[in-house]
Amino acid sequence: MFKSLLLSIFILGTLTQSAWALSPGIEPSLLKKEALSTFQAYLRLDTSNPPGNELPSARFLKQILDREGIENQLFDLGNNRANLYAILRGNGSAKPLVFLHHMDVVPADPQYWSFPPFSGQIDKGFVYGRGAIDIKGKGVVDLYTMIRLKREKQPLKRDLIFLAVADEEVNSQGARWMIEHKPELFKNAEFLIDEGKTVTENELGQAQYAMVGIGEKSPLWLKLTFTGTPGHASIPMADNAVNRALNAAHKILNYSQEIPFLVLPGLEASLRLQYAGDVTRLPGFDKDMATSLKNMDFVKALAKQPELNAMLRNTISITGMQGSDKTNIIPNRATLMLDCRLLPGQDKEPFLAELKKVIGDPSVQIEIEEYYKSLYSSPDGTYFDSLKRVLQRHYPQLPVVPTIFTSSTDSSLFRALGINVYGFESYRVDEQTSVRAHGNDERLGVDGFFWGLDFLHELVLDLNS
Ligand SMILES: [Zn+2]
Repeated sequence: MFKSLLLSIFILGTLTQSAWALSPGIEPSLLKKEALSTFQAYLRLDTSNPPGNELPSARFLKQILDREGIENQLFDLGNNRANLYAILRGNGSAKPLVFLHHMDVVPADPQYWSFPPFSGQIDKGFVYGRGAIDIKGKGVVDLYTMIRLKREKQPLKRDLIFLAVADEEVNSQGARWMIEHKPELFKNAEFLIDEGKTVTENELGQAQYAMVGIGEKSPLWLKLTFTGTPGHASIPMADNAVNRALNAAHKILNYSQEIPFLVLPGLEASLRLQYAGDVTRLPGFDKDMATSLKNMDFVKALAKQPELNAMLRNTISITGMQGSDKTNIIPNRATLMLDCRLLPGQDKEPFLAELKKVIGDPSVQIEIEEYYKSLYSSPDGTYFDSLKRVLQRHYPQLPVVPTIFTSSTDSSLFRALGINVYGFESYRVDEQTSVRAHGNDERLGVDGFFWGLDFLHELVLDLNS
């Protein structure tokens, strides 16, 4: 055993030794070695969604929990899909803490990868595989934090709950199933930690800042149907349904440029840090966002930055149109598909009323195809204080910054239950790595992963002190 430990130190290099040195407690080096090989094995289980096939992954995680004597339940969802739940019981004097991750991954095309996407290959200090940072790496850090606390027999105030779900990447079927069928297992939780942001490091491996997701925009997907006078296309009709749809599309495009910008409380720091600090470099930026937004040059420049534009206002993307399927027939109806995204905390009603007014066509019918109101969690309070305290033990003065996401994950479903959900993955990641989620050569650095195991262990102890 000792020999293989030395060998792995040799293979993983000096950074690894320093990460191990950080961590007191029961044989952390052995635990890290185990966590790393579990991570590789987890990446080898192909959970490309569709179809997902998460059941073998749930069984894989379950046998590790069983071996460690950690209470758990596997929920078979049918079609080779499953969720897994595990709990380490606290004394109940504080409310539970939940670790959530999804077992499915987006598909990967091997021809664009340097290593097979389901190999878990380690090369030059990185573990490669689809799901490495979205989000099996977090799942393994969560799992081994629980295992370490169990082995150390740490007394906890809060129950620590581990939740691995199916289907986040397509329909959130796994999370929806848990919320519908087993809410009693987690609904009294105070905090749920899901995928989101991490500690970002520079090329030299130095931590630059930590970012935490506190909210996501609400999806509001609409189907707009316009009705007109049908007929043979050789005789043009003024109230052709297709013309109505086109007129409406034109008005909607203009309106989408006028939707006001809004900086949610606590988000200014993330705007300055993200997208290479673009927001502070735009023409007309002056002191802070509130001042800058009074300058039309700044507002116009902001609207041209797609990511910043989407973070700061309600948005509308026209994603589909349908009229007649015959060139010579004017149809009864024409439809437009809109993907609208509302800032967290906003209701759909005022937005829909305004949209109807903008379209100004009495024939329009608006159907909602997908909607849930997305809340946001407080950027202050127990979790944030604890996160800051423990992070700054490792990196004094490290900025810990809240942010929101423009697309949605399972987090929104759990926020709707009144749980404080934070999007934070316990590891360090460089910019070159973070851009590879859903891309080619997805990877996670071994040193950042090892550091994350120590960090999350410390954070959980702090949240239970
Ligand atoms: Zn994900």
